[in-house]
Amino acid sequence: MIVPTGFALIGAANMLLLLFSMAHSYRVYGELYRSTVFFATNKNNILLLQILGVYLLLCCAVCFKGILLGELRIIERENLRKSMGDVFFDIFISFSIVRKEVTFLSLLFFLAAVLLGVVKGLMADRLELTEQRDILPRYFYHRAVLFFWTVGSACAFFLTANIPPRDSLFCFIFRSEVEALLLDTLQLFIRFAMSIVERKRPEWTAKSTVQIHLDVVFHLLRFFVHTKCLASFYRKRTMSLSLVKKCIVELKGTFDGAQSVRKFWQLLYQMRRKYPDATEAEIRESPTCLICRGEMETAKKLPCGHIFHFECIRMWIERQQFCPTCRAPIATRNVRAAPTQTEAAQGDTGEPEHIQLGGFAGGEPPDVLTEEQVERIVVRGVQAEGNTAQTEALRREVEELKGRVEELRRVIEEVKGVMEKEIEQLRRRVGELEKKDGVLTG
Ligand SMILES: [Zn+2]
Ligand SMILES: [Zn+2]
Repeated sequence: MIVPTGFALIGAANMLLLLFSMAHSYRVYGELYRSTVFFATNKNNILLLQILGVYLLLCCAVCFKGILLGELRIIERENLRKSMGDVFFDIFISFSIVRKEVTFLSLLFFLAAVLLGVVKGLMADRLELTEQRDILPRYFYHRAVLFFWTVGSACAFFLTANIPPRDSLFCFIFRSEVEALLLDTLQLFIRFAMSIVERKRPEWTAKSTVQIHLDVVFHLLRFFVHTKCLASFYRKRTMSLSLVKKCIVELKGTFDGAQSVRKFWQLLYQMRRKYPDATEAEIRESPTCLICRGEMETAKKLPCGHIFHFECIRMWIERQQFCPTCRAPIATRNVRAAPTQTEAAQGDTGEPEHIQLGGFAGGEPPDVLTEEQVERIVVRGVQAEGNTAQTEALRREVEELKGRVEELRRVIEEVKGVMEKEIEQLRRRVGELEKKDGVLTG
């Protein structure tokens, strides 16, 4: 509560000083027009008015937050606190090269850029909430859509506004920051919309596919935005290292994304061509897909013999490289073609070797491990430990659960308070009754 109190105190002090100054100028000049002119031309008063402007801007931000987001979760508040510092320094470094051009108005724009940057973090948190929670608060969608729309409109406003000083380096950087943010907003909104569709229609499974393609497109677009700004800098015979860094980051993102897309299509091709369709007899034998628990009419068979829906196992393979049932590795590179009937008859099943941590999936384990096999087991163990993406997801889940525990604790505290009051009342009532009883028997 320290921040809101301090915030209110600064506002009140500023307002008091302004009122005092107004009263003073009226007392000196005695009439409204001349005192207003005196008031408006005084340097100190202008500073006070500017502080009031910044203050009102922050108040607006707080109001918007209340309307569009409501109560923030604990994890959101923590992220907000962390991102505020990060965003401020990030943007400060970007703008530091243009410090000679800074005026009060450009300072306001700088503040707006920081605010929008912080808002971006909040949007990502909202999206995460949509993707993770089964039950969402009331009006969540309406508020979230309004939130995205507001941020998008703010970006559009800043892009069409005349940013002073015109054609300055400050203007270029500000524009590129806002353009990048508009792209982020659009990307997050598309993901948000897809999450909603996924919730309403669980049979729709193309979300992750669309997402990896979108990632590449948006990285590329952001790369162009920053490169354009860099080119403007170059025309003015100057250079910004932080801009160069941003270009490199986006370019790397584009390449990494393209790699994922390539892997995805490769995998899809391999699955279509090289993993056989399950036969009717196999489907009859195990009719339920273990991934989605749904009935199977058609299915794909992995080298280990387990069968799943095509879409289910495709989405699974995007994240994991082993069979969901027996954890046998799924070879995604150079998958051997499904065995022909003659091959199968000759005893060559065409299955890749099944080696995994904690045992052998394919048949009886051999008595002695070869050195190569031991090495592969160790390597796989190290890979499993270094699976940072999974760890990250788990960490987030833990944070989320912590938040819920905190909420529950608060509810319990409230209930406890009510119960204690009730007990106190009951005790008093019992006391009264006992007294009455004593009087009656006495
Ligand atoms: Zn399935
Ligand atoms: Zn299996």
